[in-house]
Amino acid sequence: MKKIIIANWKMNPVSEKEAEWILSGVKKTVAKLKKTQVVVCPPFIYFNNLQKIIGKSANLSLGAQNSFWEIEGAFTGEVSPEMIKNYGGSYVILGHSERRALGETDEMVSKKTLVCLKTGLKTVVCVGEKVRDEQGDYLVFLKDEIRNSLNKIQKRFLRNLIIAYEPIWAIGKKDTEAMSPADIHEMAIYIKKILSEIYGQESALAVSILYGGSVGRGNTGEIIKNGGVDGLLVGHQSLKSESFNEILKSVEKI
Ligand code: PEP
Repeated sequence: MKKIIIANWKMNPVSEKEAEWILSGVKKTVAKLKKTQVVVCPPFIYFNNLQKIIGKSANLSLGAQNSFWEIEGAFTGEVSPEMIKNYGGSYVILGHSERRALGETDEMVSKKTLVCLKTGLKTVVCVGEKVRDEQGDYLVFLKDEIRNSLNKIQKRFLRNLIIAYEPIWAIGKKDTEAMSPADIHEMAIYIKKILSEIYGQESALAVSILYGGSVGRGNTGEIIKNGGVDGLLVGHQSLKSESFNEILKSVEKI
């Protein structure tokens, strides 16, 4: 199965020209990939123009950083999964820690996840603890967060579900300060165990698990080789074409 590398651009860059420039800077590398699926998640406002740059590229998809839980209606400022799909988006990131910090609850993530999966979007649900503690409370936190965020999701929707494990303490740092591949592997096993408890082993194993948090050119290869994950969610290093190209080449080499 292809590795999935998702670029989360967050609220960057500030101009459409820059957005086009970043994407054009990775397109050539992406075209050569055989084992890697790349998903770029820019701000909504750039969707239309970036879709034109992506064109019919099989290795490159467009994704959204959020979605609402209704398809249409009086919900000022929101964007629906159907709109994302109609604008060429095939992926959506939900429950990112930066959205949760703004007040998004597990209940909201669960409602959004259900509607996005029903719409046919590949839906990336982000989970991850704020801090680690000696007593292992973070393991309980993670289990509850996963269970509650998937509360409304029945087994039949799992085909398009992806879980991104993003420990908040590891986000936005240098790649030398990220989580170690061995620790990532342990967490990937733990997440699969939680999913198995909810959905049974066979269904749980079909869900892709990604890691996110200070991924850069220095740690990509090791995480893909030894982290036991199906791909990566890349934040700040995906905004520099050169760094992102190096990340993609490291993934392809494994
Ligand atoms: C993120 O916030 O989703 C993320 C992975 O950020 P960074 O790579 O910058 O740590």
